[in-house]
Amino acid sequence: IKIKITNIDIPVAFASAFEGEIIRRKDMQVEFDGSRVDCAELVQTCDASEVEDHKITVVGPEVDDMELGSKNSIAYVVKVAGKNMQPDFEPVIERKFHNYINCIEGVYHTGQRDMQRIRISIDAFNAGFKIKHIGEVLYASVKNEFDAVVDKCEVVIYTDPAECTRVRHEVAIPIFDKRDERLDTLTDESVDVYYSCILCQAFSPSHVCVVTPERLGLCGAVSWLDAKATHQLDPNGPCQVITKERPIDENLGSYEDVDEAVQKFSQGALEHVTLYSIMQDPMTSCGCFECICGIEPFSNGVVIANREYAGMTPLGMTFPEMASMTGGGVQTPGFMGHGKHFISSKKFMKAEGGIERIVWMPKELKEFVAERLNKTAQELYGIENFTDMIGDETVATDPEALVEYLTEKGHPALAMDPMM
Ligand code: SF4
Ligand code: ZN
Repeated sequence: IKIKITNIDIPVAFASAFEGEIIRRKDMQVEFDGSRVDCAELVQTCDASEVEDHKITVVGPEVDDMELGSKNSIAYVVKVAGKNMQPDFEPVIERKFHNYINCIEGVYHTGQRDMQRIRISIDAFNAGFKIKHIGEVLYASVKNEFDAVVDKCEVVIYTDPAECTRVRHEVAIPIFDKRDERLDTLTDESVDVYYSCILCQAFSPSHVCVVTPERLGLCGAVSWLDAKATHQLDPNGPCQVITKERPIDENLGSYEDVDEAVQKFSQGALEHVTLYSIMQDPMTSCGCFECICGIEPFSNGVVIANREYAGMTPLGMTFPEMASMTGGGVQTPGFMGHGKHFISSKKFMKAEGGIERIVWMPKELKEFVAERLNKTAQELYGIENFTDMIGDETVATDPEALVEYLTEKGHPALAMDPMM
């Protein structure tokens, strides 16, 4: 018999009511910021003999030793053991850290992997909140939610900057890279099933993501491997198997099986969804897309904007304006929310000609996807350095200047058929 831990031993409250709490700079005692210093969060599957249940260790300074308002390093490794545990479950458990840590009163968390950011409020600090309490929360939450696979759990939290650098670069990043590589070798054709995800129906009641190896969930956080693991961990949960035995049109990525699944999971709101088209029955969008792409008629192409981009796009719209046209679980041909990693996928808008249609992205996003996107362009079309041909806000934020830039670069979209 497994016993649920209902009382977590921390000096502040722990409840989902605190999940949306934001801690402003002036109310903050200390912060940890993976975008500035070395941080990481990691679940590691270990042998039972290597894990001492409920042991929590802090290696480095406690909050008391950190200066008020300072930016610090943090890396926590949650070691788990269990006979049903699989390394494929690690990222699914890791992704829940965000919710767990956010449920602490006076503590705020965003991001994941080595890019998380945590703030501890002055009030929480004054109540006696310490680094080790993050360990208590992670321990209790992981044991509660993943009791089917986790028998023993130990947490090591590093705040020593040199140790954080070591854990991030020598332990965490190689593991993240290996996970990404594993996914990179899978194609939609090489698997027998896809998965649905309806986690976002709480906000967008008719929204269904269809997650395939080459098309991750639009939030960017649910890969096909993650959806598969989620289904194994919780067979009646948000991710269900979608068979792909009855294709209708391989180029569009339409299947009778997929249509039946989205009809069922959207309670009849959706009838047909294609996997590879933004014009014909595109996938719906909830609200948490990392990016939106929208057609740009003057260049026969598409513009992509990411959530972090605050400026104007050549569509005459900002990201929030594009988002207002795209979200809410409805199909809007010509506009589509998607994850950042989908941009370099061979299945991105395959039905409309693929990544050759991309004519504009914010500079930061372009740099983020460059290596993978250039590789795909090389493989699909033999184009070298494709991102060089794509406009950004430094060359154009209106269609005229964009077309001029694309003409100068010889961008292939200009010679393609119009999308409308
Ligand atoms: Fe799941 Fe899609 Fe929501 Fe991501 S955006 S959590 S994949 S429903
Ligand atoms: Zn969502």
